[in-house]
Amino acid sequence: MKKEHTAGVHAHVEMFLAANREFVEQRHYVEYPASKFPAQKTLILSCMDARLSALLLPALGLKNGEVNVIKSAGAVITDPYGSLMRSVLVAIYEFDVEHIFVIGHDDCGMAHLDGYQMVEKMQQRGISKAVIDAVHHHVDLENWLQKIGHSEASIGRTVKLIRDHPLLPRNVKTHGLCLSPETGALRVVENA
Ligand SMILES: [Zn+2]
Repeated sequence: MKKEHTAGVHAHVEMFLAANREFVEQRHYVEYPASKFPAQKTLILSCMDARLSALLLPALGLKNGEVNVIKSAGAVITDPYGSLMRSVLVAIYEFDVEHIFVIGHDDCGMAHLDGYQMVEKMQQRGISKAVIDAVHHHVDLENWLQKIGHSEASIGRTVKLIRDHPLLPRNVKTHGLCLSPETGALRVVENA
């Protein structure tokens, strides 16, 4: 069972390496010239949803190197001193970002996520009750995983967390938008 799993992982890695050799040999990298300083002085925080992986930047008329991008489930930041907010501050102070766009999307899986159901799935996938109990000493697990509610309300909460952050310089503007994963259409939820 374990060996089969390992072989599967290897096949997946080999698939990527084969595509990568082709990419480098064909010099496709010349299509992506960029510096590490985002040309639009912009950071986008969006959702990890697979439908947005190639849709997001062209839907905003953006190319490689023009923006910093952070992805999280639901385009959400909940902890003002977690690694996501640290990334926002790094983008501002190290990469000269002045505009922040929180871009959620319609039909986001995080909007319907049930923390209790997810803990059940963990147990079905072999995580023992003892481990679940031990984790409860560190975090209110079900609540931590819990649904974030409707996309627009959630976008507004994340925009507010960034705007209210004590380390955010005054010239940085934070906006909230919502994108359709079907058409790429954007609408403004929170204007700076
Ligand atoms: Zn999503």
